[in-house]
Amino acid sequence: MFDKILIANRGEIALRIHRACHEMGIKTVAVHSTADSDAMHVRLADQAVCIGPPSATESYLNIPAIISAAEITGADAIHPGYGFLSENARFAEIVEEHQIGWIGPSPKHIRMMGDKVEAKRTAARLGLPLVPGSDGPITDLSEAETVAFEIGYPVLVKAASGGGGRGMKVVDSPEKLGTLIAQARAEAKAAFGDDTVYLEKYLGNPRHIEFQVFGDTHGNAIHLGERDCSLQRRHQKVLEEAPSPALNAAQRAEMGEIVRKAIAGLGYRGAGTIEFLYEEGRFYFIEMNTRLQVEHPVTEMITGIDLVREQIRVAAGLPLSVKQEDIRFAGHAIECRINAEDPATFTPSPGKVEHYHAPGGLHVRVDSALYSGYRIPSNYDSLISKLIVYGSGRNDCLMRLRRALEEYIISGPKTTIPLHQALIEDPEFQNGDYTIKWLENWLETKRSAE
Ligand code: ADP
Repeated sequence: MFDKILIANRGEIALRIHRACHEMGIKTVAVHSTADSDAMHVRLADQAVCIGPPSATESYLNIPAIISAAEITGADAIHPGYGFLSENARFAEIVEEHQIGWIGPSPKHIRMMGDKVEAKRTAARLGLPLVPGSDGPITDLSEAETVAFEIGYPVLVKAASGGGGRGMKVVDSPEKLGTLIAQARAEAKAAFGDDTVYLEKYLGNPRHIEFQVFGDTHGNAIHLGERDCSLQRRHQKVLEEAPSPALNAAQRAEMGEIVRKAIAGLGYRGAGTIEFLYEEGRFYFIEMNTRLQVEHPVTEMITGIDLVREQIRVAAGLPLSVKQEDIRFAGHAIECRINAEDPATFTPSPGKVEHYHAPGGLHVRVDSALYSGYRIPSNYDSLISKLIVYGSGRNDCLMRLRRALEEYIISGPKTTIPLHQALIEDPEFQNGDYTIKWLENWLETKRSAE
């Protein structure tokens, strides 16, 4: 087992990883920018190294600085968290070339799944159902027109290197295809330095349902059930739950076995998420994420399995601590992503947290790096806390979530707590009756009523 792990991240996820390490008796090294000198992950880690100025490009994305920090402190492994360098195959290779343990999948699998066109080809080979679309990148307009005609409008133009919902364009008629492909290419080039795009059928009203998977170096592969992440604004997740209100145990077991076999077939190592759209009883693969997800705690709550601990075990060459037949899904969990943003306009609201009081009590978990007096820097993502609540069933979970949100005090910056409070009072949400379109429509209706 590792003695010391460097955490190449910040905020709540750096703290989450630190906690798993200390519970396993492993020391931690925090890295941080000058904007994060007072951050909680820096305060709690056994050692801390400043790796650069506030700009993420010069700090949390600065590969030479991170490798040097690992060498200076004698860290024997690196955990990348999510975002930043977590899905950078080159970084994973460099870490391994320096004889440092990489807590993540093999660089080969990161690269394969990072290219969504390649990922879809692999998924098809592994027997996963796909969204109908172009069989590879789109190279010229007449070919795109033929594909779009065959799959039927509306179609979606997507970036092969896409992420965070960027570079996606919905095309509802053939006349607009050329212009929107050009726009998607330009956006993709600017955001990812790669203008490769492909076409997919645009599904009208699906849910987003993803499966948590895990593999180790001993040939074991497991699935840990699904998460429903349909509540999205601009293709960004806002609230996640497990299990999905749309699936029953038989559907879960059937799809779970399909993804488990796919992971086994791939010889995949570490944690991963296979994302699907789900419409009218059918699943359609969209992508695979080769890292820990923001929403992983809902899976931990319903299975009782510490996913970060499993990641560390697998990276150290140990087998997964559970077999598929040992995994029991019990109860219901919901995660609210709390952002430092105006709850009506979503404009970022960084600044000093005057008073901080986190909710507690039975089955309430808060993954946050906030404390009273902390100043939220304006340089990074606005996610400041995740409130995760467990209940024996969905109704029980919702009652507890309402109570926990009532208790939560973050004064100073504006936060999205009021948004979650309003959301969970909606009868459709309470019935679990929502798709990926639902939240934006709900926000629109709320705005026009005000
Ligand atoms: P990214 O990597 O940019 O997040 P994804 O492929 O994961 O892109 O898609 C993000 C979100 O975009 C999905 O959760 C869904 O809301 C929407 N989306 C993606 N593909 C389709 C599609 N074919 N039809 C309808 N919506 C889609």
